Amino acid sequence: MSPHAPPLHGSLPPQGADLPWGGPAAGRMSSANAEVTLGVMGGGQLGRMFVHAAQRMGYFTAVLDPDPLSPAGRVSHHHIQTAYTDPQGLAQLAQRCVAITTEFENVPAQALAQLAQTRTVAPGANGVAIAQDRAREKSHFESCGVTVAPYAVIETPVQLAVVPEDLLPGILKTASMGYDGKGQVRVTTRAELASAWDGLKQVPCVLEKMLPLQLECSVIVARGADGTCVNLPVQRNLHRDGILAVTEVYEGNLPPALVERAVAAAKSIASGLQYVGVLCVEFFVLEPDSPAAQALGGLVVNEMAPRPHNSGHYSMDACDVSQFELQVRTLAGLPLTQPRQHSPAIMLNLLGDIWPDAGTPDFQSVLALPGTHLHLYGKARASKGRKMGHLTVTGATVEQVRATAVQAAGLLGIAAF
Ligand code: ATP
Ligand code: MG
Repeated sequence: MSPHAPPLHGSLPPQGADLPWGGPAAGRMSSANAEVTLGVMGGGQLGRMFVHAAQRMGYFTAVLDPDPLSPAGRVSHHHIQTAYTDPQGLAQLAQRCVAITTEFENVPAQALAQLAQTRTVAPGANGVAIAQDRAREKSHFESCGVTVAPYAVIETPVQLAVVPEDLLPGILKTASMGYDGKGQVRVTTRAELASAWDGLKQVPCVLEKMLPLQLECSVIVARGADGTCVNLPVQRNLHRDGILAVTEVYEGNLPPALVERAVAAAKSIASGLQYVGVLCVEFFVLEPDSPAAQALGGLVVNEMAPRPHNSGHYSMDACDVSQFELQVRTLAGLPLTQPRQHSPAIMLNLLGDIWPDAGTPDFQSVLALPGTHLHLYGKARASKGRKMGHLTVTGATVEQVRATAVQAAGLLGIAAF
């Protein structure tokens, strides 16, 4: 597209708009004489994998991220290095791109709103704003008829004082800007709750009842502007210290009835937002015989991410359509088809913790195991808890995949699972 082209109009279509999506992105692809550029707000690893998927399909890419060394910025055709709210940076992104997505939920909603004035933006500012705020997110889940953990919003000392006793023990979570377990404090008594809220500088928070978890799972859905909604298989996730450690996806990883309920809930959450894009919804599965499970029905929604998710990375190696291709398709107005998983898969997150002081972990030995797929995000510095990459193991059978994943974890110094 010529950099001097006048701004095109069209963002998310109004509800019930004629199909196909009439925005400037609608089904457009690069051709011999026209570059079509897709943009992404944020240059982390999710942006990098989006860029890879978009480029594979012939698109040009633009990333907006202030960090000159950002993982996505380094592999994109264009890298705009400004703050996320910089009007000139946003104008430059809009000028280059036919459509723009986001790779992290804390992108300022107002920046998305500015971009949406002239460009297709998916997901839209509204869905992202709701995902940024735990309180609004929970109300949305409830409005879709999906069960949430019992909770109370704490924004004032009065709300703190009247917190129901039965929410303790609980987890106090900041309403916004939390990730990987950051901004969360476990509390048992009212006194602990009060000092935890002080410790969080009395920012708006949500207190959630601590639930007895049997396991955690997540569902990734992709919804197009025409309302078509497809999903990846349900992922079973193991977290350690609030960070995703292992994702297992194969037939039998979860009871079929649960899978059905989780997929239906994720789809209703997406359609309730008129969502366009990739959405991940995280769930808790409660200990079957616990009073909480009796009271809440066993499956509880935790939170959503308005973008591809760490728990969906296995789809790049184990499914015929990955979560990043789904993101490209929803953004570019291309058809959505139901992805099919062709191999059982286990994904291990590679955190900075396993990096030696110099060099890298022993990838030579790991890659000698059949069915191992290494993804590194190009981050220069490793630090504790930092996501440096992931390893997906695929194979012909679940037993094979498990055996290889356990062996790989051992070689890498990742705790057994
Ligand atoms: P993410 O990186 O997924 O955005 P986050 O910082 O937003 O993480 P949550 O998903 O809210 O955090 O919580 C992190 C983990 O803490 C959960 O995956 C779960 O293991 C545990 N946890 C959170 N809330 C509860 C709860 N109410 N009861 C029991 N465990 C919980
Ligand atoms: Mg989470």
